[in-house]
Amino acid sequence: MSSSESKKSSGLIALPHDSLRQRSKRVGFIDESVKDIIKQMEQATLEWEDSREHEVGVALAAVQINVLKRIVIVRNNFDNKNDRTFQIFINPKIVKYDGDVVEEYEGCLSVKELYGKVPRYNKVKITAQDEHGKELRLTAEGFLARVFQHEIDHTNGILFVDRIKDHPEQFCKLTAAGKIEKLSAEERKKALAAIFEEQ
Ligand SMILES: [Zn+2]
Repeated sequence: MSSSESKKSSGLIALPHDSLRQRSKRVGFIDESVKDIIKQMEQATLEWEDSREHEVGVALAAVQINVLKRIVIVRNNFDNKNDRTFQIFINPKIVKYDGDVVEEYEGCLSVKELYGKVPRYNKVKITAQDEHGKELRLTAEGFLARVFQHEIDHTNGILFVDRIKDHPEQFCKLTAAGKIEKLSAEERKKALAAIFEEQ
C-alpha cells in the first residue's frame, strides 16, 4: 500500500512508512486544497472499508494519506455502515482528559492486520474547527473518546502500537471469521519486527 502511487489507489499508507512518525502541521486558511484533502480522506476510508468484510472505517487522520496536516475525519454513525458521512475536525486538540483509563481493542488503517488492547481515558474535551473554520468544542465519552485520542495521536506521529509496545501481550489479530484473537509468540515476534523495523 505504501509504495503504490497509482491514481486508482486510495493513497493510504501503512507502517513502516516514515510519515506516520511525523508531527503534522496546523492548518491555517481553509482553502480548496484542504477541502480536496478531506474528500480524499473520506474516499480512502470508504474504499478501505469496502475491501474489508468485518471492519468499519470509523475515522482517519490526513497523515494516513501521507498529507502532514492536522485534519481528522470521524464517521457520523459508527453502527450503520450505510451512513457514509463524516464530521470534520481541523486542528483538533484535547484540552482535558477525564474519567477512568480503560483498555479496549483498537485497530488502525495504517497498521495492517494487527489489533491491540490500548489504555485510553474514558472522557476527553476537544477543541477544533469545522471545514468552514467555525470553532467546535465537544466532550467525547467511551468509544468516541477513544477515537479522538487515537486520531489526535496520529497528528502527533504516534500510533496505537507505540502506546502498547512495552506490553506485547496486548497485540492481537483479526481472524478470517472476524474475531479478535491473541497472537502466538511467533506471530507476535514477526508482527513487532515488521512494525518497529525502522526504530
Ligand atoms: Zn489509526
